[in-house]
Order: sequence, then C-alpha cells, then structure tokens
Amino acid sequence: MENTKLETRNPKLKQKPLVEAKGLKKYFVIRASLLARLLLRKQDIVVQAVDGVDLQIMPGETLGLVGESGCGKTTLGRVLVRLYEPTEGQILFRGDVGQDVILPYNAPDFHRMAQIIFQNPYSSLNPRKTVRDIVSVPLRKRGLTDPLERDEEVMRLLERVGLSRRHIDSYPHQFSGGQRQRISVARAVAMRPRFIVADEPVSSLDVSIQAQVINLLEELQDEFDLTYLFISHDLSVVHYISDRVAVMYLGKIVEQAPTAELFAHPQHPYTQALLAAIPIVDKEYRRTRIILEGVVPSPINPPSGCRFHPRCFRKLGALCEGEEPQFIEVAPDHQVACHLFS
Ligand code: SF4
Repeated sequence: MENTKLETRNPKLKQKPLVEAKGLKKYFVIRASLLARLLLRKQDIVVQAVDGVDLQIMPGETLGLVGESGCGKTTLGRVLVRLYEPTEGQILFRGDVGQDVILPYNAPDFHRMAQIIFQNPYSSLNPRKTVRDIVSVPLRKRGLTDPLERDEEVMRLLERVGLSRRHIDSYPHQFSGGQRQRISVARAVAMRPRFIVADEPVSSLDVSIQAQVINLLEELQDEFDLTYLFISHDLSVVHYISDRVAVMYLGKIVEQAPTAELFAHPQHPYTQALLAAIPIVDKEYRRTRIILEGVVPSPINPPSGCRFHPRCFRKLGALCEGEEPQFIEVAPDHQVACHLFS
C-alpha cells in the first residue's frame, strides 16, 4: 500500500540544522529567605521550566512551537537566544562554513546571529527613546558608525516594515500596537540575524493586523534568508506560517512533524486534544472534542514517567506512570514521545 505520509517530507529537513539544542535544561531556583528557612523550615524551590529538550531548526524554515500557557515555550525561546543561560545542555549554531559553533551567550557574534521579537510591543520598546534610538542600537553594534548613514538605514528599514521615513523621530506611544510590532521587527532585522525567535508576535494584535504582521515576517524571511522559531498558542496562525511544528508539554517536546502531517495525523494524545479544540467551520474537517481533565501540573514537582499521564485519556497504567517515553519516528520526519508507539 502506498504511504501517502511520504509526501509530507520537507526538503529543508535534508539540510544540516542551523540551530540545534541538545539536552537543553533551564531551571529557575527560587531561594527561601534566611528567616523562612529558620522559622518556617522552607527550602529553595526549583522550577523545571525546560527539562531536556532536543530540537533541530533547519536553515530557512519556520518551526512552530505550541503548547498551553506555562509549558515552557517562552523560556525555551529565550534560552535559544541566550536571554537566559541554560542550566544544562548545549546550543549549537552552524557556522557559515558548515561547522558546529558553540557560542557563549556573551560572544559579540552571538547576538548578531540570534534575535528575538517579544509578544508585547507596548512593553518591549523603551517609551523614552525615539524610533531612531531604538533601531540605531543594533546598527551601531553592526559597525555603522556614521550617524547619517545610520539614519538612512533606519529610514530604509522603517519603509521596509511598512512605516514611513518621517516616523524616525516619533516615540513608541505615538504608534498603534501593530505599528509598534513593526518597529520591533525592524529592530530585530537591523542586526542582520540568521535566526529569530518570534515569541507570540501577533497575539496582542487585532486579527486584521495579525495577518499583515505575519505576511511581513514571511516576506522578510525570504528577503533576509531568516530562520524562525515561531512561538504561539494560536494553532491556526501556526498552521499558516510554519513548515514544521513542535508540541511542548511541561518543559518537554512531546511531538514534532511537518505541519501538514501533524495537523492531519496527530499521534500524541496531548496533540490530539490541542487540535480537537480548534474551532473549524467546515463539518468535514471537524474533530471530536477531547476534554482534558485537570490543569497543567506544576513544573516545580512534575509527574513521574510521562508528564502527561495524570491527564491522559489513553494512559497505559504503570508503564506511563513509571517510565519516561522516548522519541520514536512514526512517519517520515514525524516523532512522538509516547508509550503507545514503543
Ligand atoms: Fe498517554 Fe502514556 Fe502516551 Fe503519556 S506515554 S501520552 S500517558 S499513553
């Protein structure tokens, strides 16, 4: 019988990854005060926000990262651009000559290669700075020392992201949410990065503006040969923009596949529940709604075995409660971490 899933193989996956995370962990330690230790016998609390992620992001692709709030998506994105230093594990960037490069987070080259667009354009732009100041910072880091040249580049970038040259002397409060996000995009691409983490870049915008910003990101990807990690809880947006999708649950990736394959054949029970929650008008494509019981457990004390087992509707008893599932390839480029497939 012909395997139709073969058609979903993404040619970009045949390349070597631009960004690769190996055994990446990020734990946050909340220290108990001396008084709390002495009087209340409190201990330090360890939040396991990202716990052993292996991920490959191919040159020129958009990898969508989805999951419920609090699953560690934002932390993973911030670790990948070294806003947070990993607790354990490695981040590899493939250099121009095709070699693996492990760059320390404070290496000058690192921030040239990796940038981030934040979710909230109202808090991510300094209200006391003009657009000239904001977009000039990365240009100065890039070595553009002549102020006239720099201004010209700022105005060129503003035009490229759909703003006007005359906006160069304006302050963030003079712009709408969509325009502010365009300034954030201009600031990110000004560094000429190769990799951008877009952390919920459109979730705070009106639906009509969302489409414009998504289209802008796609145009810039072609123009500047960019690779994106696109973080979102909105599966419709992820479906539209991503080449591949990774699903995250409580600090771990539980499934990843090319977008068409993942949406057509979700295998992990958590992915199935997430996709079943998307409202679809067309009756033919509607899925049976799966109601997940309970809430996402605390990353301070995650469940043993498969972290999804307390909420899983297909749990295999002691196996799921006691043993952590490993990734298994269930179709070309489609991996799932679930005992149902081992
Ligand atoms: Fe459910 Fe077990 Fe699979 Fe986890 S490993 S998703 S508990 S069936």
